[in-house]
Amino acid sequence: MNIHEYQAKELFEQYNINTPLGFVTNSTEDVEGIINKLNGKAVIKAQVHAGGRGKVGGVKLVNSAEEGNIIAKELLGKNLVTHQTNKSGVPIEKLLIAQTLDIKKELYVSILIDGDLASPVFIASTEGGIDIEEVADTQPEKIFRIKCDPLIGLTPYIARDLSRKLNIPEKSIKESSNLFINLYKLFIENDCSLVEINPLIITDNDEIIALDAKVNIEDDALFRHKNLEKLYDPNQLDPLEERAISANLAYVKLDGGEVGCMVNGAGLAMATMDTTKNAGANPANFLDIGGSADQAGIEEAFKIITDDSDVKIILVNLFAGIARSDIVAKGIIKAAEETKSSLPIVVTMRGTNADEGLELLEKSNLNITTASDLFEAAKILTKILPNLGA
Ligand code: GDP
Ligand code: MN
Repeated sequence: MNIHEYQAKELFEQYNINTPLGFVTNSTEDVEGIINKLNGKAVIKAQVHAGGRGKVGGVKLVNSAEEGNIIAKELLGKNLVTHQTNKSGVPIEKLLIAQTLDIKKELYVSILIDGDLASPVFIASTEGGIDIEEVADTQPEKIFRIKCDPLIGLTPYIARDLSRKLNIPEKSIKESSNLFINLYKLFIENDCSLVEINPLIITDNDEIIALDAKVNIEDDALFRHKNLEKLYDPNQLDPLEERAISANLAYVKLDGGEVGCMVNGAGLAMATMDTTKNAGANPANFLDIGGSADQAGIEEAFKIITDDSDVKIILVNLFAGIARSDIVAKGIIKAAEETKSSLPIVVTMRGTNADEGLELLEKSNLNITTASDLFEAAKILTKILPNLGA
């Protein structure tokens, strides 16, 4: 789960990680008062669950309360489209208005879990303020990766070593090392999957301050962080993704495809997408109904797929173990009737009650083709697809 920058910075403050003084608001009426409190100069930052705001006007420096007012009116209530969002962007419902600082150097620091190393990894670079992907492409030698043994944690020695690699001035090394240790503590204690500071700045006075803050909490650990769970902001998600989360389904939108894939299980989803692609068609999304979805869940799953306007054809690939094929078939039939969807559906089912499921589907009045396996289903797809555009 993603949280907003201002919320991440509140968490930083709890761990003694310095952030610029700032105030958050959802109303343009507060803006002038806040900027006056900050002595007439401020940075106004759109609070959205996406990076890359600076490049598209979502982070603006202002030199007066009046100027701030104009910028705030431009931002609040609009959608911000950055390279990390989809075409429609994400709504700006809040602004963080913060003191400006004199930046001597922008650094990059993050911690994430490296699955291959099975441990947290610190990633840091002297080249902060720009996308880390860009640094990785153009100056990979300027990125440091440091594995943190989960049993030992981040030791002061490693924190100091990292500070030196980042060319932090000698007199600030104690401060930066403490910051890295505190950041690691925050990461572990809150079950984060990512914390990122880009940029972490060195000011003209050699202070080390987190100018930006990104924190992702591992969804599966949220149950033990009730205070963080409350920060869930459904408005920042794609509406279809939000519906899927509410229905306990895993929905992933994919760019440029036309096949809506309904499957059960992540591995089967991967195999389904590979086979679809191999046959010459492209997935528009995949929706994993899991093992335990009831008929209502299946209906919602089908509706989410049909509400994705890119979908021209639906592929259902079911390997029913705990799931029951007849329940899935009933859910599909009911949802298709309710939505009056005329999208062609190609279905392959095996496992529990597969014969009953297929019979129900074949007897329905829907535009359904059944296939004996995934490879046949993919072939059928690629035969039907060219006729749909015509
Ligand atoms: P992002 O583009 O969404 O990652 O937003 P950031 O919070 O990282 O801001 C983008 C850039 O704006 C930073 O890299 C800084 O260069 C600049 N910026 C943000 N806050 C300040 C500030 O207080 N003073 C100055 N001079 N620049 C700032
Ligand atoms: Mn940033």
